Amino acid sequence: MLVATSRRDSTTTTVVVGSNGRDCLLIDPAWEVDELASIADALTRRGLTVTAGFSTHAHFDHLLWHPGFGDAPRWASAETATPARDDRPAILAELGAWPTELLPLVGAVTAAPGDRLHWRGVDVQLIEHDAHVPGHTAVWVPSRGILVAGDMLSDIEPPLPFEPDAPTSPPADPLAAYAAGLTALEPFARRAAIVIPGHGTPGKDPTARLTRDRHLLEALRSGRDPHDDRLPPA
Ligand SMILES: [Zn+2]
Repeated sequence: MLVATSRRDSTTTTVVVGSNGRDCLLIDPAWEVDELASIADALTRRGLTVTAGFSTHAHFDHLLWHPGFGDAPRWASAETATPARDDRPAILAELGAWPTELLPLVGAVTAAPGDRLHWRGVDVQLIEHDAHVPGHTAVWVPSRGILVAGDMLSDIEPPLPFEPDAPTSPPADPLAAYAAGLTALEPFARRAAIVIPGHGTPGKDPTARLTRDRHLLEALRSGRDPHDDRLPPA
């Protein structure tokens, strides 16, 4: 497993190296173009070939790609692939300035062939839920005990059940959807040695992060101050 952290919003790129030591699954490559290019160079230097890509959810900063990664299949949940295609103008508008030649690669994902990716030496399980955004998908790497959580279980980003500017429509009850998402992640967090958040620092404290997020949600629901230093000062 390799993780790179972007200078922009501490966005993580995760590489799951296959058991053959040559092929890899590239999750949420981000963010700036020079960073994407240098990740591609680093993979080449290590003799790694991207044989699949994965996007954890349908937010523009998780739908990026670079020609240096090649033209491997890029997967996501069906609920991510649909807005990535249908809401493309809004996603590109959120992305802002971006090299013209890279625009066709943004969001070019298709629905994964099931909830288990067993692909050229890479074996991962997908955990789909509707916290943060419908179809949000965490990636569980059982051989390493690593949980790639997407935009959850972060040490710096509080739970974001609401995305007021997001092009995708929110669930009817975002707080309940978020709580259900945490419940879906819980058995994997309990088994995980390391959690990798979409923004922030990989940590050895997946269950502590999950408990902290649950407390914050419960405080929001009951109108209490969550006393969480990830939130901006009131
Ligand atoms: Zn997001």
